[in-house]
Amino acid sequence: MKLRVLGCYGGVTQDHRVTGFLINDHILLEGGTVPAALLLSEQRQIDAAIVSHSHLDHCAGLAFLADNIFADTKAPVRIIATQETAQAIQNHLFNGTVWPDFTTITRIGKSVTTFEVLEVENWIDVDELKVKAFYVEHTVETVGFLVSDRTGTLLYSADTSDLTPVINQIGQVEDLRLAIVESSFPNSFRDLAQRTGHLVPEQIRELSAHLGSDVPIRLFHMKPRYVEQIERDVASLDGDVALLRQGEIIKF
Ligand SMILES: [Zn+2]
Ligand SMILES: [Zn+2]
Repeated sequence: MKLRVLGCYGGVTQDHRVTGFLINDHILLEGGTVPAALLLSEQRQIDAAIVSHSHLDHCAGLAFLADNIFADTKAPVRIIATQETAQAIQNHLFNGTVWPDFTTITRIGKSVTTFEVLEVENWIDVDELKVKAFYVEHTVETVGFLVSDRTGTLLYSADTSDLTPVINQIGQVEDLRLAIVESSFPNSFRDLAQRTGHLVPEQIRELSAHLGSDVPIRLFHMKPRYVEQIERDVASLDGDVALLRQGEIIKF
């Protein structure tokens, strides 16, 4: 699996982009950052986007992607999400007011995007990937994912204030190669993190104990102003735990 980090922060500045990962050059895991990190030719390769929840930092890039690829759509980009998340993105983003409804705009008889409803706890095929969603704890309905291809499985927490549902997935696959877990705030902001549906580094200790040093844990969703503090907190954790870097490519 090839995982390219388009954006991995919990906020936007000149140097920080929000969440977006490109898998095997053609499937998005989250759509917060898409066009801002890709050439037009790379955007045209995208045929699906798996989205954890309806917050803008996980779907806003899809709006600009749809606009960019509109003229060359050969097949619609599949936006794959739970019913509630798909409905929220349709109602509040692709609604014809905030942005055109690219699910009804057609060219050569094909819409630019389509929604596909994801049933939680069911493995589905997304091209060469197998994907399973599981509920996590956030301020709106949110799912984490197991994402597998023939080389192994990625465990992805999405935005969550509790790692228990993520830890519960560890035994579900035998070829876990990487865990990507959110860590929005430093340890000193644990109360705020909890109230806003997020994690701090010390909460990753338990996951790290379950995974041992065989499976790297990479953190995303750091709030830009706290990146250095989070990095200092992470230094005290055991295991292979580090912050993701924007633009980084991970292969396993
Ligand atoms: Zn969120
Ligand atoms: Zn987020």
